[in-house]
Amino acid sequence: MPKPSGKPKAKCKNCEGKGLLKVGNNKVRCQRCGGTGFKPGSTERD
Ligand SMILES: [Zn+2]
Repeated sequence: MPKPSGKPKAKCKNCEGKGLLKVGNNKVRCQRCGGTGFKPGSTERD
């Protein structure tokens, strides 16, 4: 499996790249990515 070069930031699967999570009637910041919508750091694995 070849590694893609210039790999973009991995989208946070927890919030699907939105940075926000729907909780009931409210939207809260995704704690997994810190609201960025992207996985923090490339070294972190799921
Ligand atoms: Zn997230």
